[in-house]
Amino acid sequence: MEKQSISLIIDDPAPRVHVYREHAKSPCTRDGRPLLDNIPNDFLSDFCDVCEQYGLAGKFSIVPNPGCRGEISHGVEGFPYSEILEWLDIAKRRLGERFTFGPEMLTHHKAVNLKTGAYYDCNEMEWAATQTRESLAEYIAHALQILRDVGIRAVGVTSPWAFGIELEDIYTAAISDAVYRVWGETRAWYFLRGMRGVPKAGPWRAYWTAERSVISIPATLNDEFWETIENPDTSEAHVKERADRILTEDGKHGSFADALRIGAMPVLISHWQSLYSNGKRTGLRALAETARRIEKNYGREVEWQSFEEIMRRY
Ligand SMILES: [Zn+2]
Repeated sequence: MEKQSISLIIDDPAPRVHVYREHAKSPCTRDGRPLLDNIPNDFLSDFCDVCEQYGLAGKFSIVPNPGCRGEISHGVEGFPYSEILEWLDIAKRRLGERFTFGPEMLTHHKAVNLKTGAYYDCNEMEWAATQTRESLAEYIAHALQILRDVGIRAVGVTSPWAFGIELEDIYTAAISDAVYRVWGETRAWYFLRGMRGVPKAGPWRAYWTAERSVISIPATLNDEFWETIENPDTSEAHVKERADRILTEDGKHGSFADALRIGAMPVLISHWQSLYSNGKRTGLRALAETARRIEKNYGREVEWQSFEEIMRRY
């Protein structure tokens, strides 16, 4: 019997920059701690340890111009370039085989005027809503090209916030155009939507012509680790409580078990900031605990897959 595909989405990573802090509504956590300015490279190594230990696979964003602080192919304001290269090297070496990389558009912050390099006064989601197929394709191709310039293949994209949702037909055509332009690839993927509690939820073909197609891969679970940004509790009980929401120790309850029960593909989602937990790394511990429980209870029935594997299997 073919194993059930499962996958993990990680949104918002970038070399060194704490991307969430750049666009967060408040500069502090709910309990008043300032959001940290950066995430050290050893956090990426810790994440890789967890992925290797449990064989995790999925999609890992790399924001190409994180928080408008500069394109990662040239330099990021506030950090020695050696640290940017080190982060990229760790990601390629340790995640490249099991995770599909993709940009989360250019900045995950203000939109960029590609002609002048200046930033608009609106964020990328607001900007996207007013665009054409060609202007979106140019923007997406620029994001793919930056990753290509640092040695990263990306034939798909993640939508920062709900980028492109108002004109999804144009957006998907533009993704296909951009992937074809930069890589000559006829198949592409993207992540925009969540489908929680929907029976049989899983990937679908969102755009196709005789030659090309774009597969939409939805998140089917919630990011249960986000709360660890706001909550300074690093106790084992708190870590377990977060994991319980996805899968209890006995494997019977939680959104992961629910998804399997209704025939949906379990596509977990978290964010770089949720795993980092504003320096406390509680979210990453909760991810490891969740992965352990999945392996223990469903290891024989499910198979972690990258977005490109899901795209091809589809
Ligand atoms: Zn994001």
